[in-house]
Amino acid sequence: MTMRTKPWAEPYKVKMVELLKMTTQEERRSAIREAGYNTFLLKSEDVYIDLLTDSGTGAMSDRQWAGLMMGDEAYAGSRNFYHLRDTVEAYYSYKFTVPTHQGRGAENILSQCLISEGDYVPGNMYFTTTRLHQELAGGTFVDVIVDDAHDPASTHPFKGDVDFDKLNALVEEVGAEKIPYVCIATCVNMAGGQPISLKNLKELRRWCDTHGILLVHDMTRVAENAYFIQQREDGYAERTIQEIVHEICALTDAATMSAKKDAIVNIGGFLAVNDEELYERACNLVVVYEGLHTYGGMAGRDMEALAIGITESVQDDHIQARVGQVEYLGRNLQDRGVPIVVPTGGHAIFLDARAILPDIPQEQFPAQALTAALYLDTGVRAMERGAVSAGRDKDSGENYMPKLELVRLALPRRVYTQAHMDVVVDSVARVMTEADRIKGLRFVFEPEYLRFFRGRFEEVES
Ligand SMILES: *Cc1c(COP(=O)(O)O)cnc(C)c1O
Repeated sequence: MTMRTKPWAEPYKVKMVELLKMTTQEERRSAIREAGYNTFLLKSEDVYIDLLTDSGTGAMSDRQWAGLMMGDEAYAGSRNFYHLRDTVEAYYSYKFTVPTHQGRGAENILSQCLISEGDYVPGNMYFTTTRLHQELAGGTFVDVIVDDAHDPASTHPFKGDVDFDKLNALVEEVGAEKIPYVCIATCVNMAGGQPISLKNLKELRRWCDTHGILLVHDMTRVAENAYFIQQREDGYAERTIQEIVHEICALTDAATMSAKKDAIVNIGGFLAVNDEELYERACNLVVVYEGLHTYGGMAGRDMEALAIGITESVQDDHIQARVGQVEYLGRNLQDRGVPIVVPTGGHAIFLDARAILPDIPQEQFPAQALTAALYLDTGVRAMERGAVSAGRDKDSGENYMPKLELVRLALPRRVYTQAHMDVVVDSVARVMTEADRIKGLRFVFEPEYLRFFRGRFEEVES
C-alpha cells in the first residue's frame, strides 16, 4: 500500500449555501413516530445532516450549472445526447449509450434483453434494484463475492473481489448456457462500498471468455473503486484515476450506470454497451419504458450536466477529497470505539448494528431501530442496510437474514463540512452509550417490492 501525504482538503470553494432548519428532540420524536420509524418517510425539512444516501444528493459545480443553460430540449437528436455519448466513450470506453431516467431504468432494459426464464446471474453481492430486475426478468441472482465481504471485521483490501470457486461451482451445477452474464459492481454498495481489484477483474474477464459468458459492469461508483486501486493495488500508484477508470471499463462488455452517484447529477443514468446488436435491442425497449433512444428519461440539460459531471468525477483531487472525507468520518468513529465495517469504503460508513445492539434479535431489525435512534438524537438521517433491505426470498417468502446488519451513513458529494462530520461522530457515540434504551421494531405495513423504502414499523415492547 502507498501512503498518501497530501491532505484531503476540498479542491473547490462554496459559492451558494442552502439553509437548514434546526429541530428540537421533541419535534424529532414526533417526526420519527409519524414516519413509522422509517427514515425514508421523514420530511427532509426535519433532517439536519442528511446521510440517507449519496444518490442524487451531490452538489453540482458552477460548470455543471452552466451546462444546464446549454440544454438542447429537442425531442430527437439533442446535441447534449451526442456530448454525453462521446464523453461515455472517451472516459468509460463503451461505444453505444442509451440514456435512462436513472440506474434502475438501465437495469430493467438490460435484464429484459439478456435474461431468460430460469437463468442464473452471478454477482459480487446483490444490490436491491439490480436483483429485483433480474428476478422480474425470470432470473435468479447468485452471490459469488469473496467470503470476507460478509465479515465486517475482515480487513481484506478488496472485499469486492469475486470468488472463482463459487463461480465454478455454479457452472458445474447449472451449466454455462444458463448464465447469460456475470454482473460485477465496482465499489460494492451492499458490502460497505468495497472495491474489486483489477487483478481479480482481469481474471474474471478471462473466465468469462473461457465460458462464453458476458461481463456486465454496475459502474455506479467506478471512480471511487479506481481510487482504492490506485492506493492499494501493486503497479497502480502512479496511474491517474482517469486511466484506471478506463482500464476497468474496457475489461467489461456492457454497463449500467446510476449517474446520481459518481457523476454528481441529481437525476439520470444510462446503459452502455459495445455490441451493436445488443444496442439495437436496448433501443427497442428504451422507447417502451423511458423515451426516445437519444434522451431516455432525461432532459437535454440534464444530459449536459451529466457529461460535465463525468469529467469532474475522474479527477484525482476530487476523488481524494471525496474518499478522504469518508475516511475522516470512519477514523473518528473508530477512535470513539464505534464498531464499523473496515476497511472504510468509498461512499459511506457502515455501523455494525449487531455489535451496537446485541440484545435486539435480527427479527426485530436492530439496524432499522438504530437509524431511528440516530435521527432522534441529533437529526442525522441514515439508512438501514440489513434484514429490512434484504427483503424476502422470492420462492419461500421467508425473510432473508443477511450476515451484515448495518446502518449506512452515506456522504453526499461536495455537500457537508468537516464540522458536520464531527457532529455525526458525537451523535453516534452518544446513541451507542444509551443503546439499552433502544427497542426492537416490527412491521405494521410491509410493501411487496423493495420494502425498505415505504415500510412502516412500531416499537416492540419488551
Ligand atoms: C443506486 C444504485 C443502483 C440503482 O440506481 P438508481 O439510480 O437508484 O435507480 C444500482 N446499483 C448500485 C450499486 C447502486 O448504488
